[in-house]
Amino acid sequence: MAVTDHVDLATFMAGVSKRNPGQTEFIQAVQEVAQDIYEFMEDKVQYHEAQILRRIAEPDRVISFRVCWEDDNHNIRVQRGWRVQCNNAIGPYKGGIRFHPSVTESVLKFLAFEQTFKNSLTGLPMGGGKGGANFNPKGKSDAEVMRFCQSFMTELYRHIGPDTDVPAGDIGVGGREIGYMFGQYKRIVNRWEGVLTGKGLEYGGSAMRPEATGYGAVYFLRNMLMHKGMDVEGHTAVISGSGNVATHAAEKITQLGGKVLTLSDSGGYIHDPDGLTQEKIDWIKHLKNVKRGRISEYADEFKGATFHEGRPWGVKADLALPCATQNELNADEAKTLVANGVKAVSEGANMPTTLEGVHAFQDAKVMYAPGKAANAGGVAVSGLEMSQNSERVSWNHERLGDMLTDLMQGIHGKCVEYGEKDGHVDYVKGANIAGFKKVADAMLAFGVV
Ligand code: GLU
Repeated sequence: MAVTDHVDLATFMAGVSKRNPGQTEFIQAVQEVAQDIYEFMEDKVQYHEAQILRRIAEPDRVISFRVCWEDDNHNIRVQRGWRVQCNNAIGPYKGGIRFHPSVTESVLKFLAFEQTFKNSLTGLPMGGGKGGANFNPKGKSDAEVMRFCQSFMTELYRHIGPDTDVPAGDIGVGGREIGYMFGQYKRIVNRWEGVLTGKGLEYGGSAMRPEATGYGAVYFLRNMLMHKGMDVEGHTAVISGSGNVATHAAEKITQLGGKVLTLSDSGGYIHDPDGLTQEKIDWIKHLKNVKRGRISEYADEFKGATFHEGRPWGVKADLALPCATQNELNADEAKTLVANGVKAVSEGANMPTTLEGVHAFQDAKVMYAPGKAANAGGVAVSGLEMSQNSERVSWNHERLGDMLTDLMQGIHGKCVEYGEKDGHVDYVKGANIAGFKKVADAMLAFGVV
């Protein structure tokens, strides 16, 4: 058999598993895409001959490096850092940096793979990458975080650049960390350039970037609901997480007349039957960003709210937005949400639902938007930050808000175009095919490189 012959999905996945031993998250992400792409490629011999899926599932490169830093007690600490450059067919590598003890090569490879499709879906010229370190910013002083960020960038700077690879934030990396990393990059290369996004407004950041992922996930949700003649207003929502994505998703749901019942962190979740208000959300933002406290403190502050260990998926609601981390919603929890009458699920996090959980939503014909479509608003506004930096301009909040709304509507439209059948939209399939097609066609144009 020639290598270009059509191997079936099971054989393809067996190869992926064999080449990436123990990398369960990466294999899961490839499986989710491959099952849709195989169907789409059925009659498209050029993709098979050029081994396009096989090539996308093999990152362009995985860079791994040692990060040494000194803690406040003068102990020398050693972490591992990575940058996974998955695919740059349609633009410079683009994707966040994650600092969390759970970060492994598998996690970053899955995130870079997902990012490739997500970035393609935005319609902007961005390839897919992801980076990070197994560093836990929790409980660290500002000075420790600064020294870690500087050490991390002292290696990373040689692999990135405004036309090469443009990192941003992700879990554990927000405005503070981006500031420290940008400062170190600028010091080393002696150039001010748009090498990171998510920067502060004072130094080339974009308005609307902090809100973009959470707001975008709600705009996507609203597009799904409107496609079925519904809206957010009057509906209850369960949200997980309490970081940048979750708090901004909660804010937008609230602004649109929905009622947010829960938020969470790794310690558990709060249930507020009265619903969150802007005042309560601002309190949580301060708790998390300034005091760096725990969500359990919310139940001490606001009457009627309770704190529970575990995850919020047992709370009955019309809408669900997983906005914390990967694999935070399993099949049993998905079934509970379905039994409780959930109408739509929009993922603010990356791959928060397990494969079996996704199938439970799909079997129940619940509107379900995967992260690569629903949370693309963040990276989309990052793309706009890159444009503003290149042009040396800054657009205002209102203009960027309109652009974000249009971008999310555009992504929804692409999912419908490729995923609608017999009046039901398979958003996973739509996102996978639309995201894949643009990257694949660019790769075909380049030949074998
Ligand atoms: N980390 C975010 C994501 O998962 C944003 C990436 C970016 O802005 O480059 O899409």
